[in-house]
Amino acid sequence: MDEGLLGSDAEPPSTHHQHLSLPVLDLRSANGELGATPVAVRRDPARLARTRSRLVITPRSNDFRRRFFPEANRIDWNDWRWQLRHRLRDLRGLARVIRLSAEEEAAIRRLGDHLPVGITPYYASLIDPGDPGDPIRRMMVPVPDEFVQTPGEADDPLAEDSHMPVPGLVHRYPDRVLFLVTSFCATYCRYCTRARLVGQTGEYHFNTQQYQQALDYISEHPQIRDVLVSGGDPLTMTDDRLEWLLAALRAIPHVEFIRIGTKVPIVLPQRITTDLTGMLRRYHPLWFSLHFMHPAEITPETAHACERLADAGIPLGSQTVLARGVNDDVETMKRLVHGLLRIRVRPYYLYQCDPISGSRHFRTSIEKGLEIIAGLRGYTTGYACPTFVVDAPGGGGKIALGAQNVVGRDGDDVLLRNWEGKTFRYPDPVSRTG
Ligand code: SF4
Repeated sequence: MDEGLLGSDAEPPSTHHQHLSLPVLDLRSANGELGATPVAVRRDPARLARTRSRLVITPRSNDFRRRFFPEANRIDWNDWRWQLRHRLRDLRGLARVIRLSAEEEAAIRRLGDHLPVGITPYYASLIDPGDPGDPIRRMMVPVPDEFVQTPGEADDPLAEDSHMPVPGLVHRYPDRVLFLVTSFCATYCRYCTRARLVGQTGEYHFNTQQYQQALDYISEHPQIRDVLVSGGDPLTMTDDRLEWLLAALRAIPHVEFIRIGTKVPIVLPQRITTDLTGMLRRYHPLWFSLHFMHPAEITPETAHACERLADAGIPLGSQTVLARGVNDDVETMKRLVHGLLRIRVRPYYLYQCDPISGSRHFRTSIEKGLEIIAGLRGYTTGYACPTFVVDAPGGGGKIALGAQNVVGRDGDDVLLRNWEGKTFRYPDPVSRTG
């Protein structure tokens, strides 16, 4: 049970799936978002305090805590629900910790129904308050460019909505589905592909009835062997809620493989409790796709969170978005991928930024991505080199891009170019069959 916190107020829907008798929690928090459950019952507070006090706090984050949240002790700081409750969500909150520019202030005032602001105190403690170009600030703090829609941009550029056979379930590829289970995130990234959905109670009302529709669809389609659970961020849900979903998926015989897409270990590492990892290890094979963006995110706190996940037997990969002013140079990317390997995370994908509305200031050229991959491949460990992909606008799926290394044929030899640009011959007789 996750740190002894429970908020049960309803029973799950009747279902043919086995062991679904876990309580269903009301995921609506005080601010109306979905995902965070109010504290209801505390169990064994002494044990909780011991668990939290053992979590790492770097001196930088500790100074930030003392300065901006003097009422919070180390145990509060290491309570993931405290972190969620104290997120920076408005102009007043942000202005306390960052010297905002006039443009940033104007953009925050203008947000309205737009993607909200939300930054955990821990993640905010990584921002250099005096540096307007700080990469985390750039990812988290709105600017007026967000409101400028340029040609080719769309709210749903990947046409996910038109590939949903039931609400919240995207079925684009034959053998796998994307299961959106919440619209709540611990932090809201300004370049988010699902900005149309996250942070809003919006068009997707996540509830057990909707979950059940998705589970029924998966049950009825035996070709689905792989389910990516995403949102929003599934790890903002309580352990009970998440376990209910994982148990329901595991009860479907043809679901071989479950993945969880999350940024929580990066922005809310306190969430990776031993209770959570103890629960997750019951649902193997389970893989995690983490969303690391910059080497500044690799801290003792995130390293500890990743260590706990890896020790629970969960393979970790990072899906990084190429973002201008954040990670669009070889040196930054190299520091990131090396740091990821050190904390047992495999750099998996480097995404060309999707053309969502108001994303021009984040998007680089595709050549920039190819240049970064060329600057990694061969120069460093193969495990450190992600695959560079474009998610094709309109719903075409991921298209891997790379340097063209097959340069031609000379009789029975194929001519190949290596990472240094030198050409080599590989014997490959034209007459060979099979
Ligand atoms: S955590 Fe993921 S889903 Fe949430 S705002 Fe960031 S990119 Fe979007």
